[in-house]
Amino acid sequence: MKNKKCKYIFVTGGVLSGVGKGITAASIGAILKAKGYKVTMQKCDPYLNVDAGLLNPVEHGECFVTHDGVETDLDLGHYERFLDFETSKYSITLSGSIYKELIERERAGGFHGKTVQLVPHFTNLVCEKIEKASVDSDIHIVEIGGTIGDYEGLPFIEAIRLFANRVGRRNCLYVSVVYVPFIHTSNELKTKPAQNALKDLRGFGIIPDIVCVRTEGPCGRAICEKIAAFSGIPGEAVLNLPDIESVYDVPFNVLKSGVLEILDDFVGDKREPDMSKWKEFSRRRGKKYTKTVKIGLVAKYVGNDDTYICVTEALKASGAWNNVNVEIEWVNAEGLESLTQEEVNKLLSRLDGIVVPGGFGARGIEGKIRAAKFALENDKPYLGLCLGMQVACIAAARRGGISKANSEEFGAEDADGNNVIYIMDGQRGTESTGGTMRLGDYAAKLLPKTKTEKIYKKYDFGKEVGGEYEIIERHRHRYEVNQKFLPEIEKGGIKVSGLSPDGKLVEFIEAPKCKFFVATQAHPEFKSRPLNPHPLFMEFIKTAKNSSN
Ligand code: GLN
Repeated sequence: MKNKKCKYIFVTGGVLSGVGKGITAASIGAILKAKGYKVTMQKCDPYLNVDAGLLNPVEHGECFVTHDGVETDLDLGHYERFLDFETSKYSITLSGSIYKELIERERAGGFHGKTVQLVPHFTNLVCEKIEKASVDSDIHIVEIGGTIGDYEGLPFIEAIRLFANRVGRRNCLYVSVVYVPFIHTSNELKTKPAQNALKDLRGFGIIPDIVCVRTEGPCGRAICEKIAAFSGIPGEAVLNLPDIESVYDVPFNVLKSGVLEILDDFVGDKREPDMSKWKEFSRRRGKKYTKTVKIGLVAKYVGNDDTYICVTEALKASGAWNNVNVEIEWVNAEGLESLTQEEVNKLLSRLDGIVVPGGFGARGIEGKIRAAKFALENDKPYLGLCLGMQVACIAAARRGGISKANSEEFGAEDADGNNVIYIMDGQRGTESTGGTMRLGDYAAKLLPKTKTEKIYKKYDFGKEVGGEYEIIERHRHRYEVNQKFLPEIEKGGIKVSGLSPDGKLVEFIEAPKCKFFVATQAHPEFKSRPLNPHPLFMEFIKTAKNSSN
């Protein structure tokens, strides 16, 4: 399992969390990738949760799903976007999962009567997880969640210190991201919290090779030198990273800070990173285009931008590559429910496109169905993601004659007659548990001559398998379209455009009469990249642009 070639970068944070440790780590990764290395990333999170599947998205942001079906937090989405690789179950290590594995092993007699301890058992298992996650990499970056000194994070800090014994200190690079606040009353930057954080880290046996000093505005060398002097670190290893407007400019900021020389020394090669595509993207993103498209995101949670971050990132990147500004307008799904039809028409017709993203539970559902119906009847570009496909089918079935069409998920009665979205037999009765979801990669065959097929083919996003075009997308859902209602759904204006390879599950639908009305049971947003946005998002934005005034 050991990968002898691999070099490891460990990123910890001091002073505060939420100052961009993950983005800094991913930016270092992007630079190394641009030098030609195979770079992977992993997050070690000290939460006692076993996975992120049951975490509230308002508090924690979106639940990201890996190709092999693990529900994780949104950091892995950043890693995928910055490094354009696919994370896996090995890319996230939560304390809860480590404890669970240890306790299960202990219960099964796996420790042969020995005492089981944080050191060495917890720490060794963490080291094994890091080794596993890095088997195919040239460089593996491990981000430790939280801030230095957190009780729950300590075993991870000890693990990454010990890791150097396994692979050699010269194969490890420790990066610490610290925050230096600007105190407005005294008009100065305060380095003391950063010094203390570095002192704590030193106390745990780690002297960082790079210290990234996060500040609101550029801080000047004196502050970096001061931190260096007080922390026993060479001045040139302390770099300033001030706040910046777009996270996608952070790699350039990191490059400007002088980190490249240290990275070059670490990997032993001075090749220039090829950042040309990043530069092009950054230029496009920063530009003000003459045209703007207003995209309505019809959602239950409208308070926190992070809740649908993969969706909004995919939309914005598609705007940049389509030469158009994308303005995202949050439409509160619940709010839509109480409006008159006239008010709904007024609200939604101002938009250039409508997205109904994934979601769970009954709240706001009628509002989402109304939005899908509006798009269908008014030829408004519509992109339905998972729940967004289900509500589109419900809207169409209602138009096609099943006036009470609904989903079993929303507690709808009269199941047989109305539930066009239902739970398949094998899963009935276990809906409230975390374990029944269809998670991760599943293939779908796209039906010939559909718009959906044309779009995926245009971007070469799948492959011919036995004369059919097959694609793979990530999933996170439980309910399915009941195919016995397809005649009514079709009568209501929607056709199936993709099925699971065995034909049992509806994976894609489209409205043939609309310019762009495509929806999928999958979550294509998870596979969208800033440098390479997902085909459905690209074409959705393109249609919205071409049909806007
Ligand atoms: N709640 C729906 C289901 O479980 C849709 C899930 C989603 O949108 N991710 O099938």
